[in-house]
Amino acid sequence: MMGHSHAVSGALVFAAAAPFLPPLVIGRPLQPGEVLLGAVLSAGAALLPDLDHHDGTLAHLFGPFSRLACRAIARLSGGHRHATHSLVFVALAGAGSRAAVERWERGFTDGLTFTLLLFAVHALRSHTSGRCADSRATTVGLAAIGTASAHTWLPGTGTWLPYAVVIGTLTHVLGDCLTRQGVPLLWPYRRRFEMVLIKRTGNRFETRFLVPVMTVGTLVLVWLAAFAPTALTG
Ligand SMILES: [Zn+2]
Repeated sequence: MMGHSHAVSGALVFAAAAPFLPPLVIGRPLQPGEVLLGAVLSAGAALLPDLDHHDGTLAHLFGPFSRLACRAIARLSGGHRHATHSLVFVALAGAGSRAAVERWERGFTDGLTFTLLLFAVHALRSHTSGRCADSRATTVGLAAIGTASAHTWLPGTGTWLPYAVVIGTLTHVLGDCLTRQGVPLLWPYRRRFEMVLIKRTGNRFETRFLVPVMTVGTLVLVWLAAFAPTALTG
């Protein structure tokens, strides 16, 4: 799947689960602003597993620097679609961000919020090639404005940020199961899991059908989860 599709699917799953899971996982429902921010942060987290891809969407974020970083991560994790495409990675990303939020509190929360917003804005504005439609300065500026807004108006972001990381990374890993090659879900066990719905990354089914449907679904679900959650929970 393309980075853009991963980002949209991360936002979609976050919005769909927003009325149900947060009370169970973090002990309280999310506020409307948190649903909106959470969907975007989950979109950003849904890019994280592809940090192992030297030609993926994130690799294009900061030119040679990000490409080099992605190559290093690929080498450490065993190559593209290895360790970072597993349930172990999802669990480590969730537990790691939770431990860091507890240790460094708002400093870490702001840092991770900025990073995930940067990834989300970059992916959502990117073409199918993974190259961004506009300047990096705009992407960085939008992420900075989002982070400052979250810092000012949503002081409880740290309490649910690790949850958004889990939703985003898990959505990515399961999404890649729908493509050829699948993913080693139970890494370090090597068996790859796949159920091929998308035969080629960036094909018409993905770009003309899946992405538009997921985008509309996300907007509707964010609206309902934020302003009329009882319409979803009954
Ligand atoms: Zn992937």
